[in-house]
Amino acid sequence: MTFKEEHDIVDELSKHLLDTMMLGNPPQVPARFGSVDSLQTLHANLISLRDFLYAASTGDLSRQVAFKGYIGGALKTLQANLKHMTWQTKMIASGDFTQRIEFMGEFSQSFNAMVTQLDQTLKELVRKETELSQANEELHKEIITRKHTEAALRESEEALRLLAITDSLTGLYNRRHFNKLAEDEISRALRYSRPLSVMMFDIDFFKNVNDSFGHASGDMVLMMVAKTTKEMIRTSDIAARYGGEEFIVLLPETPVAKAATIAEKLRRRIEETTVQTEKYPIMITVSFGVSDYLGKTNSKPHERVLEFIDNADRAMYASKNAGRNKVTVYEPEEESVP
Ligand code: GH3
Ligand code: MG
Ligand code: MG
Repeated sequence: MTFKEEHDIVDELSKHLLDTMMLGNPPQVPARFGSVDSLQTLHANLISLRDFLYAASTGDLSRQVAFKGYIGGALKTLQANLKHMTWQTKMIASGDFTQRIEFMGEFSQSFNAMVTQLDQTLKELVRKETELSQANEELHKEIITRKHTEAALRESEEALRLLAITDSLTGLYNRRHFNKLAEDEISRALRYSRPLSVMMFDIDFFKNVNDSFGHASGDMVLMMVAKTTKEMIRTSDIAARYGGEEFIVLLPETPVAKAATIAEKLRRRIEETTVQTEKYPIMITVSFGVSDYLGKTNSKPHERVLEFIDNADRAMYASKNAGRNKVTVYEPEEESVP
């Protein structure tokens, strides 16, 4: 064989190997070298190397290298390391921040730094979230406590308000509050020309009740009178304990004749009611004065109240003088003429 022929064979083989490395579609082993086993093996290894590298470059780590030795071993190790790294990344994703990559130099350092940072950030986030939810819980408790306090305050304010306007023994309004309500009712009745009546009543010989049965029994009688009164009047009527054993009821939208009828019913009901004390049954009577006359309508509101009540008071004393247990209606004609 000439040098030229040898040169051509080596050139053909080199081109074949280069094409196998470089081309997208690798060539077959030229037919005339088909029987050269080492060339077939080299060709097959190159094909396997191509396949492996192409698969790896597209992320497929399942392809096996078909040959051993230096290159085959190195590729296997690289493949195993990449597989291990994939598994480690999965572990990190599921929350295991202890994973560290050791085999990829600078990439390993950056990756590990990222994992450490991620770990710290998450821990900080969890800590902040815990703090936040604790703060939220405390705020919630604080809100509930405040609501309770507010409700208690409102209740005690309401209790205080009631205490200030109510007579504690009978639960009726006290004199001061009655006068205030009466001022408004009188103004309203005058402004709209509406009927308005008042009835005053006083327990007959109440001193005797205290003297004979004791003060506690007297209190029971006062409570009975208050209770009976409340039962007999409308909710729009305003009842008060005006003094010791003296009561008053303001009746809006009520002419005096109607008020007198109501007073008569109440008088009879009280007369018929027995107060059962521990020792004795007690029965009492009351004397009524009823009025709807407002006197001088141009006087000041609190003066009108006093005039109004004074008229009823006079009528009540007329009942007392006429033998008690009676209803007397105030007569303006007689009283108003000096
Ligand atoms: P009259 O028929 O003229 O009204 O005679 P009276 O005895 O009812 O009148 P008097 O004004 O002399 O007596 C009223 C009595 O009412 C005297 C007082 O001790 C009693 N009293 C006033 N407030 C209370 C109270 O809260 N409880 C009791 N138990 N008695 C009271
Ligand atoms: Mg009396
Ligand atoms: Mg009296």
